[in-house]
Amino acid sequence: MKIGLCVFPKFTDTHLTNQSTHELGQRLEPSVLYLASERPGDVNIFIEDNDPEKAKDCDLVLCSVYTRGWKEFQKFSEKVGKEKIIAGGYHPSADPAATAKYADKVVTGLTSNIEEIIESPQKGVVRGKPGSRKMHRELVDMKKMRQIYPDVFPGMMTGRSTSSVGCPFDCEFCATPKLSDRKMTTYEIERVEEDVADLKQRGVKAVFVSDESFTTRPQLKEVAQVYGKGDFDVLYSFGTATTLTDEKMRFLAENGWHSLNLGLEEINTSYRKNRDLASAIELAKKHGIKINLSFIVNDHGKSLNESLQDYHALFQAFCDYKPAMVAANFMMPFPGTGIWDRYKDRVTEDDFIKFDSKTPVFSKEKLADWHKHMAVAVQLAYYHSDAYKEVRNFHNGDNLDLRFRELEKQFGMENEGWRKWFDPEKPAKTQIPEGLNPNEKENEMPELSSGKRKVQTYNLPIIK
Ligand code: SF4
Repeated sequence: MKIGLCVFPKFTDTHLTNQSTHELGQRLEPSVLYLASERPGDVNIFIEDNDPEKAKDCDLVLCSVYTRGWKEFQKFSEKVGKEKIIAGGYHPSADPAATAKYADKVVTGLTSNIEEIIESPQKGVVRGKPGSRKMHRELVDMKKMRQIYPDVFPGMMTGRSTSSVGCPFDCEFCATPKLSDRKMTTYEIERVEEDVADLKQRGVKAVFVSDESFTTRPQLKEVAQVYGKGDFDVLYSFGTATTLTDEKMRFLAENGWHSLNLGLEEINTSYRKNRDLASAIELAKKHGIKINLSFIVNDHGKSLNESLQDYHALFQAFCDYKPAMVAANFMMPFPGTGIWDRYKDRVTEDDFIKFDSKTPVFSKEKLADWHKHMAVAVQLAYYHSDAYKEVRNFHNGDNLDLRFRELEKQFGMENEGWRKWFDPEKPAKTQIPEGLNPNEKENEMPELSSGKRKVQTYNLPIIK
């Protein structure tokens, strides 16, 4: 049987429709490669551009659908025919009934039993069985992978690896609890060893261990040792702050961990996983592991003034925590997450195209444009700050540096042009663009003192 593998949005998507990312966009091996059929005689092809003509050549098409690719998937199904399609992934798990109109079989949750599902005569919605599978990297051109990351340089072969899926935490904005039922499925050590050998054999030098909550998994030390033996130039993973101990940090450092990605998330909001964020960052510094922080900008129901305070508070948090990289995400209310009910009346299916994390979902026109500029400007302000100079040299020619040079051009922020949008040294009142009402919600500008804008305090502990 000839089986096509597709991901929605398509692998070659550059986000250009939303003017958010282009040439140097991040690209990881798509998780649908785990689902290549291992039945004798089956031939798998990865259709990277989702061309329906190539799909029509296949007996069956496995489609992994993310919310942003929902509309694209609907059109694809109409062209290819739903009787050929098995759909799974995040969006089908969150809305199986809607997906069933476009696919003969809809698999919800994590799936390790794809061969069984292919063979089963049962149509409609089926629950997948969690478990580990091999990543079939031979189906994709590994040279097309790209990681925007500190110390990952152009030409460096990059790859991702997974040793567990799922997360026991329940952050309300996150899609993982829905897919995993808040259970962790850990892969056998031998499976991880095989994956490390595969990455080595392909010349991969930078590895992202993409487990959603890597530092929560059992047998962490043994798995870290397996990755450590790979002797990769850059090795990193997610970390969950409250799970990090001195002991864990020590053996991650001993096994060559370059950095941990932590989620600062929405400023002024407390998360159970982040109760110990400040001490986790201190521990990382003690053991020489760099920290990267992702953050969420929630543009819902906020006047420009209120959002401006958030950006200043974020900047202050960056300067306190001193991450090597910061990554902006706009709040995206995914169906099935804890925040869906709160926001579901504010978004339509047409808004899903904006769920690329770089496009504000709730703001319209000028205000949306302002947010897009601010999210880039606050990051550039940090990378050019005195605080960042204590961390590392930003302009070292790595993919992070190059990506931000690209963004500077895209947003007209070369030669410190970001200061027009976000300047921590200037009163905020001077940074309100023309044509925007800063007081949409009748909020007054905060008091200014000594010519400098007061930064809103945030309720995360500060590292001294
Ligand atoms: S700890 Fe991370 S993966 Fe787990 S629910 Fe929270 S954001 Fe999601």
